[in-house]
Amino acid sequence: MEVRYTVRPESPLEHRGRFSIELNGVSTPSVDLVLPSWVPGSYLIRNYSRGFRDFSARREPDGSPLRVEPADKARWRVHTDGATRIRIDYSVYGHELITEGFDLTEEHLFLNGGLCFPYVDGELRTPATVTLDVPPSWTVVTELEPAGTTPPCFHARDYDELVDTPIDIGRPIVLTVQPAGIPHRICLCGEGGNYETATLERDVTNIVDASVALLGDSPLDRYTFFVHLTDKRDGGLEHLSSTSIVVERGCFRPEESYRRFLSTVAHEYLHLYNVKRIRPKALMPFDYTRENYTRLLWWMEGTTDYFTDLVLRRAGILTPVQFLEERAKLVKQYLETPGRNRLSLEDLSLVTWVDYYLPFEETPNQSVSYYLKGDLVSMCLDLEIRHRSESRSSLEAVLRLLWKEHGRTGVGVEEDGILPAVHRATGLDLSSFFDRYIRGTEEVDLAAFVRYAGLSLAPRQKRADDGDAAEPGDLGVAVEDAGGLARVRHSFVGRPAHAAGLTPGDEIVALNGSKVTYSTLDKLLEQYPSGTPVDLTVFRRGFLRRISLVTGRRPPWKYVFTPMPAPTETAKKVYESWLGEKWTPAPESD
Ligand SMILES: [Zn+2]
Repeated sequence: MEVRYTVRPESPLEHRGRFSIELNGVSTPSVDLVLPSWVPGSYLIRNYSRGFRDFSARREPDGSPLRVEPADKARWRVHTDGATRIRIDYSVYGHELITEGFDLTEEHLFLNGGLCFPYVDGELRTPATVTLDVPPSWTVVTELEPAGTTPPCFHARDYDELVDTPIDIGRPIVLTVQPAGIPHRICLCGEGGNYETATLERDVTNIVDASVALLGDSPLDRYTFFVHLTDKRDGGLEHLSSTSIVVERGCFRPEESYRRFLSTVAHEYLHLYNVKRIRPKALMPFDYTRENYTRLLWWMEGTTDYFTDLVLRRAGILTPVQFLEERAKLVKQYLETPGRNRLSLEDLSLVTWVDYYLPFEETPNQSVSYYLKGDLVSMCLDLEIRHRSESRSSLEAVLRLLWKEHGRTGVGVEEDGILPAVHRATGLDLSSFFDRYIRGTEEVDLAAFVRYAGLSLAPRQKRADDGDAAEPGDLGVAVEDAGGLARVRHSFVGRPAHAAGLTPGDEIVALNGSKVTYSTLDKLLEQYPSGTPVDLTVFRRGFLRRISLVTGRRPPWKYVFTPMPAPTETAKKVYESWLGEKWTPAPESD
């Protein structure tokens, strides 16, 4: 069957695009057109079909109408009545500038195929063409293969490629860099943006160079970073040979914010290897109609996050001290999550569809992000390998082996495939490590692992010379601003408020009789240091009540990595191979 999609951004002011699908070679009494309920990389059922309207079908070439009816929420059935050539028309509302969005405005059309192009059931492997019937003054940027210029037309070898290759049409600023001799476009879409062109080009080049060096080679002959500048950050979504990043337009300064942007760039770029090509077998082929389960997302996301920081270090964007400071922030976040050992990393991966992607008030008590824990456990695994192999091997060798055996060959990774790959790459048996920290829920002794690199890891409370000496007492809640009121968003297991029965949704209005607002709660708690009995007055479901508790000690202000005074030679070597600098007992990392 021949499948041709056409896009017409007819009513940008109404954010509604007109689409058509021409099918040639139809031989069945009916044809089902199915829209994905999720797209790869974003593991949530999202019901993209809600913006679809005006479905109609006709026989070609005479144009006589054919009956078309919805068969489920994202499936339209066309009764072909013997026709072999059919044209289907529909319109889609798109006004959401997020990484996997469909956004049509006067300025641009940003399109992810999974949100706009229903596939013909049974024809997922069939090639397709996409014609973009757009104003000639608009530039088209996509990594789809060009198949014609007036109007612009592109070719996708199958539906997976179509879904995984976004298209941006408008007036972007396109920068081109050539790291590793491969053209990489940075397509900046949207007004404003406080980036500095030369700095951005240099840093992206260094990130790509460091990534290609880490993996050994590149499967691509071109790549595009779509960077959408808007008023709020959405993050990034990886694609086969591009990535879509949505950021706040002022994110390129100050340095810390810019580093966060570069971290997204590196993370998404590494995905072109890890997850896009080193891919769980359980996600092969994609079933776009329902949840696709894998236990490997901890590796696909958490380990990618770990390698992201390593790439930023290798690219010279993070100094060793900054690298360790970033690690220390993760440690704090991780150790303050009471639910970090409730599910194994493998189970967290599996339940992501109702867990990571659907966080709610109880999430921190019963779960932890597999990005966060996967990152830290990957660091520990790396340090364990470097220690036991006396720096002859590392997790980098494991990634390279997976790239060689799975990425380059297209063979999916089995659900239990990482452990044997570690063994093949390093010669070490890490089954106990996997049983305890990846398949199991044993507390990870982070300090013990970083000692392998000659570092100690310790908590630190705020000191007088850090300014703001008074340490407020701890309630153990996260509050949100509810029209000025301090409303409890999370009440953390093991801390005073949880034990006293303060509950998500409670609005704290007074503390020992003094009025509390969202902005004054923390300051007020300075008067009640750890160990002070206090009375809280809260509105619970609109009714006033009092709760008594004793304030606790706040979790450590921060964690710090410090070089040990007399590390072994093995530890010094681990430090040097890991951080890429000579062992020098530097001051502590803060
Ligand atoms: Zn990712």
